[in-house]
Amino acid sequence: MMTDNAAKLPKYDLGGCSITLIDGGRLKLDGGAMFGIIPKPLWQQSTPADEQNRIQLACNCLLVEWEGETDRRVIIETGHGSKYDEKEQGFFEIDPSRWLLSGLRSAGVEPETITDVVVSHLHFDHAGGLTYERDGRIVSTFPNARVHVRRREYDDAQVGFGTMKTTYRMENLQPIDEARAWCLHEGEEECVPGVRSLPTPGHTRGHHSIIVTGSRRTAIFPGDSMPTAAHVGAPYNMAYDLFPLDNRESKNKYLKRAAEEDWLIFIDHEVETPVVTAEVKKGWYALRPA
Ligand SMILES: [Zn+2]
Repeated sequence: MMTDNAAKLPKYDLGGCSITLIDGGRLKLDGGAMFGIIPKPLWQQSTPADEQNRIQLACNCLLVEWEGETDRRVIIETGHGSKYDEKEQGFFEIDPSRWLLSGLRSAGVEPETITDVVVSHLHFDHAGGLTYERDGRIVSTFPNARVHVRRREYDDAQVGFGTMKTTYRMENLQPIDEARAWCLHEGEEECVPGVRSLPTPGHTRGHHSIIVTGSRRTAIFPGDSMPTAAHVGAPYNMAYDLFPLDNRESKNKYLKRAAEEDWLIFIDHEVETPVVTAEVKKGWYALRPA
C-alpha cells in the first residue's frame, strides 16, 4: 500500500494503474437483517450492535486511475449520497455532509474529470451518490461520466422488483436517464480497458462485481455479495439477499479465483479492514487484511 501524500488516502498500486479508497459515508442497518440466518451470539463477536441493534457500516468507494492518463478515470460505487430528510438521517444514522463528493474533494479530485462510474447495483446505499441536490434541483454528480450497471438491475429498479420497497429511488436514476448516460451491461463486459464487470447474482438478480486489472495485480469489488469481511462464510447471507443460494455460488466463484491469483478484494461496507486477500481454508475461504 502507498499513501497519497496530498490527501493521505490509502492507495493501492496494481501496476500502471492505482486504486484509491474514497470515503462514501457511513450508515447503520439492523444487525439481524445484515446477518440473515446467523444467530446474534455468533455475529456480535465480530460486529457489535448499538442499543437499537444496528451495526455500523462504511460505504467504501474506489477511484481508479492510470499513470499519465486523463481519458479514463473511474469511480466504482457511489455510496449513500446526501439526499436524506431528518427522519431518514436518524433512522440510518447518516451524516448527509459526509458522502462521495466530499470524499473526492478531500482527495483533490473534481467530479467533472470522471469518465466512467460503475455501480454494483442500484439500491440507495450504492447509487445514492450518483446524484445530488444543487440549487433546488437533483443533478448528476458526475456530469461527464457514463454510468455502468447491468440491464437486469436497471429494469428491476424501474419497477421496484424485490422485497424492499423503498431502496430503489427514482431521484438517483432520473438525472442519468435524462442525460442518456447509462451503459447497460448484458453480461461480463468491459467498462474501460482494465475495468470489467462480472455478473454475481444473489443479492439482486442483476448484481455485478467489478474487476480491475493492472500489469502486476488484479483487484475485485464484490459489492453486496460480501458486504463486510464477516460475511465471507458460506452461510453468511443478508436477509436482504433476494436469492441467497445464488449469492453463495457467486461468492464461491470469485473467492476461488481471488485465492488462486492473490487478488486484492475491496469490501464495500467494511469499516475495519476494507482491503483483504483470500485463502482456501477448511473447504471454503478465509480473508486476511492486505
Ligand atoms: Zn449495501
